[in-house]
Amino acid sequence: MLMSPCWMPLACTLPMVVSPAHSLPQDTLPRTTAEASGWARTSTHADVSTFLEQLGGLYGSARMQVDEVGVSTEGRNLLLVRLGKPLPERADLEACGDRLRVLITGNIHGGEVEGKEALQQIVREMVTGQHDQLLEKTALFFVPVYNADGNDAIARTNRVSQNGPDEGVGERANGQGLDLNRDFIKAESPECQALLALMNRIDPHLYVDLHTFIV
Ligand SMILES: [Zn+2]
Repeated sequence: MLMSPCWMPLACTLPMVVSPAHSLPQDTLPRTTAEASGWARTSTHADVSTFLEQLGGLYGSARMQVDEVGVSTEGRNLLLVRLGKPLPERADLEACGDRLRVLITGNIHGGEVEGKEALQQIVREMVTGQHDQLLEKTALFFVPVYNADGNDAIARTNRVSQNGPDEGVGERANGQGLDLNRDFIKAESPECQALLALMNRIDPHLYVDLHTFIV
């Protein structure tokens, strides 16, 4: 079965380089659900929230803070990871000074899990000091589970032509049955309304929306 390609009117595609699980700098670092399961499972919304809480507990708020900027149709919090060195005090334009403002969303299509998993790994690398040169020049805003309801509707019958994870992935639509990547103009979803409000506050120079594409 061929999956329909993603159409991304506001997005671009960037290569993402993250450390594989076997090269983690310390065994004690929190692991993502994908890493801990040998790539058999993908993270639920709660898993991502817990992972970020663990990182925050271990490394404090010197480089990272997690905010909640909205609520999904089914009541899941829209997590926003704010990063920088020093950390911008708020998610708004004035707090970022003259640094490059970058907004990245993962999982707009709930079954497309790679961006969500990669963002967690990148956050871990950042809070452990691996990318301080980047953090000194940028204010980064990650929404790793933008479509939280679709993400958690995990079933082995979703995206069956995709090569894993074996225990299934979420579904494309949000809790209202809307494709969030088609909602940026009409803004009928609470997720899009929250994201647009965030965009208006931080006015990002660059917005990257992460998808998975099957060829
Ligand atoms: Zn997509």
